[in-house]
Amino acid sequence: MNFEFDDNIDADSPIYQIGKVAELLNISVHTLRLYENEGLVIPFKKDSKHRLYSQNDIKRLICIRNSITQKKYSIAAIKALYSMIPCWSLKKCELSERNKCEAYSGTLTPCWTVLNPSKPCDSEDCRVCPVYKTHYNCDSIKTTIKKLKY
Ligand code: SF4
Repeated sequence: MNFEFDDNIDADSPIYQIGKVAELLNISVHTLRLYENEGLVIPFKKDSKHRLYSQNDIKRLICIRNSITQKKYSIAAIKALYSMIPCWSLKKCELSERNKCEAYSGTLTPCWTVLNPSKPCDSEDCRVCPVYKTHYNCDSIKTTIKKLKY
C-alpha cells in the first residue's frame, strides 16, 4: 500500500473519504460498506451519505484485510475475534450489569454491534469508546486480555 501515516495528524481524526480509502487499500467502496455493515469498522458519518475515515481506521482496515487475505479468516471469524475484547473490564461494568448484557455473554459479534437496551453503554458513541478505538490492531486484543486481573 502506497500510504505514509502522518504523525503530525491526530490519528483518530476523520479526514479521508471512502473513495480515497478504497483506492489506498485497493478494494472497492462496496467492500468498505460491507465491512461497515458487518460492524468491522465504524466510520465517522458526516451525514447519512458521507463517511470519513481516520488514520487509525485505515490501520484497522489493513489489519482486517491482512486477516482475510493472509490468515484466511472469514468476516465471521474477525467478528468473533472482536467479541473477545473484554469490554466489561475496560468499561468497569458491575456484575449485575454484565449478566444482563448480550455483549458479555455473546461470542459472535463485537459489543458495538449488539443492540440491547439493557446494555449499560447503549447510548454511548462506540467510535470514541476505548473498547473500539484502542483495538484498531487485531493483535492488541490479546495484549488487553493479558492485562486482565484474575
Ligand atoms: S460503548 Fe460501544 S464499544 Fe464501548 S463497550 Fe459499549 S458497546 Fe462496546
